[in-house]
Amino acid sequence: MMAIIGATMVAAGLFIAKVLEQSHIDLLRGNMMRELKVIAAEGNWGKQTGSDPELIVSYTKEAVMLKNLANTRITYVREDGKVLGDSDQDPAAMDNHHDRPEIAEARTSGFGDAIRFSDTLKKNMLYVAMRLDDPNRAGGYLRLAMSLEDVDATVRQVWYFLIIGLIVLFVLAGIVSYRIARGLTRPIEKITRVAKQITNMNYKARVNMHKNDEVGQLGQAINRMADSLQLQMNRITENENRLKSVLENMTSGVMMIGPDERIVLLNPAAEELLGFTAQELLGKKFDEAKQQFEFTKLIVECIDTRAQIRDEMIFYYPAERILDISLSPIAHDGDEWAGVLIVLHDITAMRRLERMRSEFVANVSHELKTPIAAVKGFAETLLAGALNDKDTAKQFLQIIFDESERLNRLIGDILELSKIESKRIPLHFSPVDMSSFVENTMNMMRPEANKKHIELQSQVPDDMYMEADEDRLRQIFINLLSNGIAYTPEGGKVKVRIEPVLGPAAAGREGENERVRIVIQDTGIGIPKKDLPRIFERFYRVDKARSRSSGGTGLGLSIVKHLVELHQGTIKVDSEPGIGTKFTIELPVIH
Ligand code: ADP
Repeated sequence: MMAIIGATMVAAGLFIAKVLEQSHIDLLRGNMMRELKVIAAEGNWGKQTGSDPELIVSYTKEAVMLKNLANTRITYVREDGKVLGDSDQDPAAMDNHHDRPEIAEARTSGFGDAIRFSDTLKKNMLYVAMRLDDPNRAGGYLRLAMSLEDVDATVRQVWYFLIIGLIVLFVLAGIVSYRIARGLTRPIEKITRVAKQITNMNYKARVNMHKNDEVGQLGQAINRMADSLQLQMNRITENENRLKSVLENMTSGVMMIGPDERIVLLNPAAEELLGFTAQELLGKKFDEAKQQFEFTKLIVECIDTRAQIRDEMIFYYPAERILDISLSPIAHDGDEWAGVLIVLHDITAMRRLERMRSEFVANVSHELKTPIAAVKGFAETLLAGALNDKDTAKQFLQIIFDESERLNRLIGDILELSKIESKRIPLHFSPVDMSSFVENTMNMMRPEANKKHIELQSQVPDDMYMEADEDRLRQIFINLLSNGIAYTPEGGKVKVRIEPVLGPAAAGREGENERVRIVIQDTGIGIPKKDLPRIFERFYRVDKARSRSSGGTGLGLSIVKHLVELHQGTIKVDSEPGIGTKFTIELPVIH
């Protein structure tokens, strides 16, 4: 572009210079021709006679005189080319001018001109010659010579202007085209930069441009593209986060195996169930992941058959657990095999509960069988004739009554326990005045204690209140007190002590974290150390015969433990065989 401008300028310059020079020369030539005509008419050229040296002297004199008038070098050349007069040089020393181009031209067409570098003057000279053809005179040629220095100077000046103009023009053109280019490229560079940022996943990048031309429209198009990309990406990340939080927070373990048989996903629950971190397993082939053999076999089976598989398996690592495993082959876009999705459920607790239930049912049936067998047996004996012996009959009927009573208690306890366990009974909390509450409860137990001459003692601070379900709390007391009475020999003691819990557990704000300690202690037969951990189990008895004779069901402590837990409390037992047993319960004061 700049080159084109430059070339055009140079060409124009050259042309102008040429034209200028030419017109200058033409003007000069015209003037010189006019001068020549005047000089030819004035002088008496070609008329003089004499020897050459004489002619030279006279013509040279004439020439010098004319030069003083016209201020141009003037030369007279004879027809044969001999120079006879010259204003500036000695004609004798000059060559024959017959073949000089201006003379030759003048010879044929009257006037001739030529531009030549004069060796003598070291200048470009314009020579104009004219043929003298006045019939009255001798022929010859008159020649004027003028230096072209002025012309050259003018042309040089033109060149100076031209060059300066050219430079100015160049600079201007440079500035203008730079600005135009910048105006074009800057926005494009800006757009390119933003496009690169978007490629590098910076979807917030925008082209800041408020033009309406093509480039501005391109910028707006890029912005709209970025908007929609950002929207899509937001949607994708939102979805991804949703899925991630589902996977991270679900209790089931999820594991995914890719089409290349490598583990591609493992959620926290699966990490926990399998005992390996995602870091350890991700990217590994499933059969190199140190998994239980049967588990690996299931995966292989699923990959081979491409069918859904569900199984239950005991895992021994990292903990003994029963896991429900479901494997589903995944397909993308209809048919393409994309791997296996494995979902793991920990069903240990469920299975344990089921086992406990069935054990409970077995225990209950067993417990019920004994009294029923007794009732049936004694009734049969009575029917078979024992009825006639009045004393025996009465004794048997008493046994039947006692056993049915036991049966009634047993069924009552079972119903109670199942109600508490299934948490079907809501607790009704209300403030309980402990000293009157303990007093009342003790009174209820007194007849039984008196029968065995057992002393009941209580130690309760005045003005002590706690929030509890009073009926449930009473049940706790009655069960523990009746155990104390039952397992304490005649003349023993059963004590109840209630006190606030001191120490760090009581710290905190007023009323909060405050607890009450209930201690029920007897001086009875005690419980052997090995049985202590089990006495809260249902139907567990240390001594079956003794429990039976005391009318126990084996459910009392179970019920107590559940009720204490419903009150957010704790229960523990200390016992020394032969010395006594101490149950310690701690309950929160406020719920
Ligand atoms: P039971 O109806 O047989 O008393 P519990 O569940 O109340 O059933 O008690 C379970 C077992 O714990 C009892 O059979 C008994 O062996 C033992 N036990 C409970 N309380 C005492 C106690 N205060 N002293 C000694 N042994 C006790």
